[in-house]
Amino acid sequence: MTRTTTVVIGAGQAGLAMSRCLSELGIEHVVLERGKIAHRWRTQSWDSLRLLTPNWMTRLPGFQYGGPDPDGFMSVPELIAFFERYAASSAVPLVTDTAVHSVERWGDGFRVATSRGEWSAASVVVATGYCDRPAVPLVSRQLAPSVAQLVPSDYKHPEQLPAGGVLIVGASSTGVQLADEIQRSGRQVTLAVGRHTRLPRRYRGRDILWWLDALGSLSQGADAVQDITRSRQQPSLQLVGKPDHSTLDLRTLHDRGARLVGRVRDIDGYRVRLSDDIVATTAAADVKLAEMLTRVDRFIETHGAIASPPEPFNPTWPLGISAPDNLDLQDEHIESVIWATGYRRAYPWLHVPVLDARGEILHRGGLTPHAGLYVLGMNFQRRRNSSFIDGVGDDARAIAGEIARVATHVRVA
Ligand SMILES: Cc1cc2nc3c(=O)[nH]c(=O)nc-3n(C[C@H](O)[C@H](O)[C@H](O)COP(=O)(O)OP(=O)(O)OC[C@H]3O[C@@H](n4cnc5c(N)ncnc54)[C@H](O)[C@@H]3O)c2cc1C
Repeated sequence: MTRTTTVVIGAGQAGLAMSRCLSELGIEHVVLERGKIAHRWRTQSWDSLRLLTPNWMTRLPGFQYGGPDPDGFMSVPELIAFFERYAASSAVPLVTDTAVHSVERWGDGFRVATSRGEWSAASVVVATGYCDRPAVPLVSRQLAPSVAQLVPSDYKHPEQLPAGGVLIVGASSTGVQLADEIQRSGRQVTLAVGRHTRLPRRYRGRDILWWLDALGSLSQGADAVQDITRSRQQPSLQLVGKPDHSTLDLRTLHDRGARLVGRVRDIDGYRVRLSDDIVATTAAADVKLAEMLTRVDRFIETHGAIASPPEPFNPTWPLGISAPDNLDLQDEHIESVIWATGYRRAYPWLHVPVLDARGEILHRGGLTPHAGLYVLGMNFQRRRNSSFIDGVGDDARAIAGEIARVATHVRVA
């Protein structure tokens, strides 16, 4: 068994940022990764995916984008290369192709068993990702077997889908991007719309994330919101990073011929029952958008920021159009369903009592109820941007500080 002070599990942005912060404090550690650096991006992205955050937001502790296009959006190969450079610059003590099979208590610390040996450590940081596994609703099991079902992590490009129409369930960032690409490829897309956060790509001459960054919305702390559980359940930003900086929203998709319908309520073979909620859902997103843009307008006024005049935003749902309350997939020639319905996490290897009834790690700002065990990269962990590339660094610094504080007092078996 190899002894170290801290084992970090996962070499995505969270694990790499954690390693950098531990090294800065002189804390001995190892990063265990089941694949290679940025394994999730390598294996679970679709071909055309680009970051929805602009390059200037690709900032991690001690390292940030320094290329010629700060306002552009990285492709996945560019992002992987960025993470590789980051790991090299931090001299991350990385052990790749090593899957963690179990973490258990061991003396005052932990024993970490992997596919390639065992480690003992005073502390463990779980950095295995918020977008760990697809969260697919149970109704998916009622779908006729001849209809192909996919999750975004299995989707690469439209040609892999069977011929025919496609039902995409979920209209956050992933759902609208796939809907756009698949509709453009010549297939009829039906998009079942649930709660979403509508945002224009640009507003008043700047990227919308520039304004949200300036407003401090992205770095808002968990203590500053009324109900952190509710805030953590907010849908992801309906944004896409395209080289032309264009906006992709439901209105655009409707204009391109995609059909928008309400939430999927129930499925019986080929029959899909839909909620009569699309007008309400889109209106709610429009109201939130208007509130947010008003905050930007106020910021511009108060700070005298240089900005172009406000652009008007039309309501999403075109007046006079009604959405169906059910679909017959056979009649509509819909041959595949993509569940863009979010993510969940699973920790079958974590044998320390820190999981709640739903299997989520209990934590406060990344500190679990079990001393020495930490989690990093969770949605709104300490701040709204905790699971973003731009936000994970702050949380990593805080956890490294905590590990440094207790490290000297813990004896490892
Ligand atoms: C489609 C999509 C687009 C996104 N776009 C953006 C964006 O534009 N900007 C932005 O800031 N954020 C974006 N995000 C959010 C976030 O940046 C990503 O989810 C990112 O991957 C999170 O990094 P992470 O290090 O926390 O987790 P991950 O990247 O998931 O890394 C976790 C690592 O842990 C490893 N691992 C898991 N289990 C084990 C085990 N048992 N043993 C060893 N290793 C293990 C995995 O192989 C993986 O490498 C996006 C997310 C998704 C899903």
